[in-house]
Amino acid sequence: MRKIQQKKSFMIIGLGRFGANIAKMLANMDADVLAIDIDEESVTKVAPFVPHCLVADSTKANALKELGANQIDHAVVAIGNNLQASILTVLNLKNFGVKKITVRADEEGHKEVYRMLGATEVIIPEEATALSLANQIMSDSILDYYQLSEDYTMVKISVGEGFEPKSIIDMNVRVLFDVNIVGVIKNDKFAIPKPMDLIVPGDILVVVGTKDNYSKFEQFLNVKSKPKVEEKKPAPEKKAQAKPKANAKETKKK
Ligand code: ATP
Repeated sequence: MRKIQQKKSFMIIGLGRFGANIAKMLANMDADVLAIDIDEESVTKVAPFVPHCLVADSTKANALKELGANQIDHAVVAIGNNLQASILTVLNLKNFGVKKITVRADEEGHKEVYRMLGATEVIIPEEATALSLANQIMSDSILDYYQLSEDYTMVKISVGEGFEPKSIIDMNVRVLFDVNIVGVIKNDKFAIPKPMDLIVPGDILVVVGTKDNYSKFEQFLNVKSKPKVEEKKPAPEKKAQAKPKANAKETKKK
């Protein structure tokens, strides 16, 4: 039986490209990760990067129990193209009381199946990547994007030139936009935001919220500069309008 440490524990099931990358990234972040795959070769490939790696069949409840699945905080089922194995795995994890179960699906139609079985999150990797890219290219001021759950996203938003400097407390973002500022980047330096921090053009804010809410906040941070009215000289033109029509047309063409 595997000893469960104080820090959050993850079990990554299925070490194809998707599962292997998640396992490696979590291990790199020094998380408590157990990675398993039914195929020995897949386990061997990941083993140099993930300290706890084992060959096991996740459709077998006993195998998962032996690995301490009942004490896992978050499981990621990355089996992908084997629907039956994924379903049995989710059911096993649910029976062991695993609270967070993220399932990788290959088809939109499978999402509902996994949710009904008790998956807390279902993702289609290509869809998540495409969504992230689409959001980035939609707006010049959305610099980075990370989907936290189906509703909530963490985004990096740059503050536009036309923004009038304001302190975080004066922006009243929780009330007005229902978003949270979780980080401020000034001159490439990240800091945890303080209420009195002054936000100025060129700053980058790390914000958590729903798409609707952070989009409104992004517009607020990127108001266009007011046009300079003095550049036009309306007075002589107005006089010209009072003149005969032919003259007025001439004035417009100029
Ligand atoms: P990607 O699409 O990300 O490149 P892949 O196509 O290589 O990944 P899949 O074939 O979808 O990955 O499967 C992911 C992994 O799940 C495989 O390595 C496979 O051996 C493993 N797997 C399949 N069934 C089980 C099971 N019952 N228990 C554990 N692992 C399993």
